Amino acid sequence: MQSKQELVALALSAGTLPGLPQGHFIDGASSTAASGRSMESFDPGRAAPFAVFARGDAGDVEAAVGSARRAFEQTWRDTPAAARGRILQRAAELIREETARLAVVESLDSGKPLAEAEGDVRGAARAFEYYAGACDKLQGDTFPLGPDYLGYSLHEPVGVAAQIIPWNFPISTAARGIAPALAAGCAVVAKPAEQTPFTALLLAELLKRAGLPDGVLNVVTGTGAEAGAPLVAHPGIDHVTFTGSVATGIGVMKAAADNVTRVVLELGGKSPVIVLADCDRKAALDGVMGAIFENAGQICSAGSRLIVERSLHDGFVEDLCRRAEALRLGHALREPQMGPVNSDTQLGRIAGFIDRARARGVDVATGGAETADPESGQGWFYRPTIVDDCAPDDELVREEIFGPVLTVQIAEDAQHALALANDSQYALVAGVYTADFAKAHRLAARLDAGQVYINEYFAGGIEVPFGGNKKSGFGREKGLEGLLSYCRTKSIAARI
Ligand code: ADP
Repeated sequence: MQSKQELVALALSAGTLPGLPQGHFIDGASSTAASGRSMESFDPGRAAPFAVFARGDAGDVEAAVGSARRAFEQTWRDTPAAARGRILQRAAELIREETARLAVVESLDSGKPLAEAEGDVRGAARAFEYYAGACDKLQGDTFPLGPDYLGYSLHEPVGVAAQIIPWNFPISTAARGIAPALAAGCAVVAKPAEQTPFTALLLAELLKRAGLPDGVLNVVTGTGAEAGAPLVAHPGIDHVTFTGSVATGIGVMKAAADNVTRVVLELGGKSPVIVLADCDRKAALDGVMGAIFENAGQICSAGSRLIVERSLHDGFVEDLCRRAEALRLGHALREPQMGPVNSDTQLGRIAGFIDRARARGVDVATGGAETADPESGQGWFYRPTIVDDCAPDDELVREEIFGPVLTVQIAEDAQHALALANDSQYALVAGVYTADFAKAHRLAARLDAGQVYINEYFAGGIEVPFGGNKKSGFGREKGLEGLLSYCRTKSIAARI
């Protein structure tokens, strides 16, 4: 097995890695697209293609759903829970063994700094480990119907679950959906984003090596329109987990509605980070920086709206700007502090937001320009950007930008901060920095968000349910609640 250093050196010199999967993963084997077509994936750090993969369509989806259905009915749903758990546990071990390769591939494909990709791979291993342990703890209830009756419930697997995966967290989103689905006894057809197909395919290969029977996990690659749409509309799909944009999520929900297929939607966000005057200033600065500049702000739960108490505001924002200007940008494999954005489309979207803001007279405190990898002069980069003292109705405050752009709003006190925080169409996460724990928990109770981070943005792990309210979606992934998404309850009542 090659070391991380060897893989990085190889990827940087060759611009690619040998041995990347090129076909779909269907019925336990690699298969070319039925149409024979393929497409390219780009390295965002060089703005250049680095590998090709299958461009799937309805024909490939048909084969994958058929394979999953057979595997579900003939093998997986009746595989004892403890045996399922052992396979998932083995998968976690294999993911850990392959961390370097998976992370280098993830960095090349998504553009995220290698250290972040390594964290994502560790998170993926944790997801398999966590749900491995949960397989044989999935137990139902008994109901007190009196001496003449027996009442109990079973958690049955839903059946075949589709996973539509975005490009910003390819392996971690795949793992957090696939692991609980398999743990519950479901078979899966996953469709990774066309920008980042490779780690989902590698994950499927690892699961086969871990002992997963053929057909239980299938991966179909291709575009949303050609491969994603026929998958979510397929009558053989019993559940859809979708992570992506609001507009696409609405379309997925409508398509699923025709078959009355259940959906979990994890959509956009415009998450507030409330920083109160009594906070630990350094922890808050670190937290706000990570909340918006990790993965170049391309995180649905990014903390993209800083809401800071007035007495702290001036010096705090000055420090943030200094730190933002000092961030080292570069190709994902050169260990930068911030990498490129994922695509030229994304770069154009981000630049459009800032250009429109400038045109309406908004002052950009720092950043606000496209740039490139200082070493190569290539890549899709946008400078870390901070826009101070924004009006609550400004487009920059209201819309998800999905890039390294932080808006700042000034609050008079905690109540005002709460009102500003909740004034959004989104409600995914919220952060609070204060030394006053009572205040923090009162705010947490009132914040409209699926999860609240206190004194550490992104605190938590696979144990903690994750999902949104309002236009951020519904349903929860992660935690035991995430496992129950893949179950349906059967209640049995008998006269005895
Ligand atoms: P973005 O606009 O940032 O690319 P999307 O929400 O469109 O984000 O993409 C998220 C995922 O949804 C990707 O895997 C994409 O291929 C998929 N997708 C896009 N359109 C559809 C669709 N109509 N049906 C199902 N999946 C889709």
